[in-house]
Amino acid sequence: MTDLPVTQEQMTCIICPMGCSMEVLIEHNGLDKKVLSVRDNGCPRGEQYAYKEVSHPTRTLTTTVAVRNGEVPLVPVKTSSEIPKHLLFNAMEILRRAAVEAPVECGQVILKDILGTAVSVVACSDVGKK
Ligand code: SF4
Repeated sequence: MTDLPVTQEQMTCIICPMGCSMEVLIEHNGLDKKVLSVRDNGCPRGEQYAYKEVSHPTRTLTTTVAVRNGEVPLVPVKTSSEIPKHLLFNAMEILRRAAVEAPVECGQVILKDILGTAVSVVACSDVGKK
């Protein structure tokens, strides 16, 4: 039996459109958190999501980047895979200051290894030269 603090939190699973509202029991050891149990998940993926969300949450970042000499001023971009959630704000700042020269092709790498994550930021559409 442990005397570490335990909290009960509601968490919405975002893996599928069901959006199950799950009850998650979390043990706190300083900054470390550990899932003790998950309830009300509609399938096992919800439990996996809760464990990952508590121990190392990640997200795919989607935003836009400025285009120089393009037929439109911005191109939609996204990370090629998920990055740690705590890096999202800094990644957004980097991309807010970034610019790419037209033409841009869908899938083109706009930025490699953002914040040392080994994840690239890629264009999600074509932008022609003006
Ligand atoms: S727990 Fe399963 S059914 Fe519920 S939202 Fe997550 S993936 Fe969908």
